[in-house]
Amino acid sequence: MAQKTKSFGKPWGTLATVGSIPRHLERAEAVARFRLTAGHDFLGVYLHCLGVTANETCSICGHAKMDGDHLLQCIGLDEYSADDNVSRYWEVQRQMVKKPSTDVG
Ligand SMILES: [Zn+2]
Repeated sequence: MAQKTKSFGKPWGTLATVGSIPRHLERAEAVARFRLTAGHDFLGVYLHCLGVTANETCSICGHAKMDGDHLLQCIGLDEYSADDNVSRYWEVQRQMVKKPSTDVG
């Protein structure tokens, strides 16, 4: 209970309310779900917050803010179903490695 209280107001506070991530998942799926739930997703908004990138832009479609919400709406990921956030997440990670930002701050 004390752990839940400490996490309120923190970006990872959602972990206190969503319950545990099922243990039967493949590692890649578990990692993607954890990162997206905790907000430590290594997407544009998070990387910009860390000072790794110059902006929060989606490197695939150019949308102004790349976060977990945009991940499900990105037009550059139409080959994946709208509710397959795990496949979408790893495709974005692959694309970001192929096209790293040159505007690193
Ligand atoms: Zn996009």
